[in-house]
Amino acid sequence: MPTQMPARVDPARLARAGARLRGVIDLASLERLAGQCEAPPRGQASIDIGFGIDGHGRTLIDGTVEASVAVVCQRCLEVMGLPLRAAVRLCVVGGQDEAPADGFEPLELDDETVAVQALVEDELLLALPPAPVHPPGACDAPAEAAPAGPEPGGASPFAALREMMDEQGG
Ligand SMILES: [Zn+2]
Repeated sequence: MPTQMPARVDPARLARAGARLRGVIDLASLERLAGQCEAPPRGQASIDIGFGIDGHGRTLIDGTVEASVAVVCQRCLEVMGLPLRAAVRLCVVGGQDEAPADGFEPLELDDETVAVQALVEDELLLALPPAPVHPPGACDAPAEAAPAGPEPGGASPFAALREMMDEQGG
């Protein structure tokens, strides 16, 4: 069983311990992400993030967040599964005037802690392409021109994918 992530963590404490968090979050709980997807996201986001302290005493969060969502291809308008992989590189700062470490995005905390779900959702939203499309040549019905298109009523590979995704979600 994958470990569910805690709701909130204390980055400074985890950084002092050199801790690493690995676990999952149910995608169904990420409402802002759902608003950007064609079908409500199902399954879980996998999280693997490490905490550390740099030479200036700043708390760094470094790792990855992965999930798969359903979006509409903006070329053929078919629903497709899209794997998202977001790099997490955050540096805890005390305020807007405090510079983060090189290559890290600033993260301001509400109190001492950070909400893991919101952090994960932010990263996945950033990883979501504004206009997702199938890989070149993979569209079911290319808008360009279809000289030898599929037979009418022929089984679409993406219909099979959709069925698969529906079955997975129950
Ligand atoms: Zn497409």
